[in-house]
Amino acid sequence: TPPAPPRLEVIDLTVRFAGLTALDGVSFAVEPGSIHAVIGPNGAGKSTCFNVLSGVYRATSGSVRLGERELTGLAPERIAALGVARTFQNLALSDHATVADTMLLGRHRLTRTGFLAAGLRLPSAVREEARHHERMREIAAFLGLERYLGVPAGILPYGLQKLVELGRALCMEPEVLLLDEPIAGMTPTERRHVAGVIAAVRENLGVSVLLVEHDMGVVMRLADTVTVLDFGRRIAHGDPERVQNDPEVARAYLGT
Ligand code: ADP
Ligand code: MG
Repeated sequence: TPPAPPRLEVIDLTVRFAGLTALDGVSFAVEPGSIHAVIGPNGAGKSTCFNVLSGVYRATSGSVRLGERELTGLAPERIAALGVARTFQNLALSDHATVADTMLLGRHRLTRTGFLAAGLRLPSAVREEARHHERMREIAAFLGLERYLGVPAGILPYGLQKLVELGRALCMEPEVLLLDEPIAGMTPTERRHVAGVIAAVRENLGVSVLLVEHDMGVVMRLADTVTVLDFGRRIAHGDPERVQNDPEVARAYLGT
């Protein structure tokens, strides 16, 4: 089994936009090798939380830590390089790049060989390239994408594009994977497949997963821990069973 990834910790996080508090002192931790779900009604602050974790938004106050390391204020590329990879809620894959090339983009952060060595096709660069391809193929097989590797990513059905996006993130060999609504807009068959893949990512790759998802059934089946946000505040936290039976959570979803 792979070594346990570091703990990802969100500490007293506040994000204000002009006149609006999107996150208000939110704290939680993604334990090593667990699946942690963040749920809540529309506008609760879930995507904002993701955007701070991945360096896209800046926190007004509070911090994010990966193990002992402070991630607050780092650029997205730097956070990705430290092992926190994300997928996007609304993605747009290229009509020109193949599935293979799109997934290989995720391996850029791992490339040690310099640009010059690669350009001259030195043996070290060629070997490294071969390793990248091999790993990319393994991940494609894991996701059931092998037969699409030569196809332009942008022409695939939406559900398969979401899988390619997941493959690109996995190619970065992340320690923590952030998934923003990974099964939204999918057919029931695709949802089952992706839910299985997420479980397998944790099980077989030992990666921690932080998941934002609307489908309560999937959240309850997959997650070890659930954090519920409403109007930027954490209103409930704990194991799925407990959270599901929390009257505060029911109130938030019913909007009463
Ligand atoms: P969720 O993902 O839970 O639906 P979001 O995090 O997207 O919620 O949004 C939380 C609140 O913050 C909403 O009121 C939204 O309009 C606001 N918000 C999100 N991003 C921005 C932004 N870049 N500028 C201004 N307001 C934003
Ligand atoms: Mg959102």
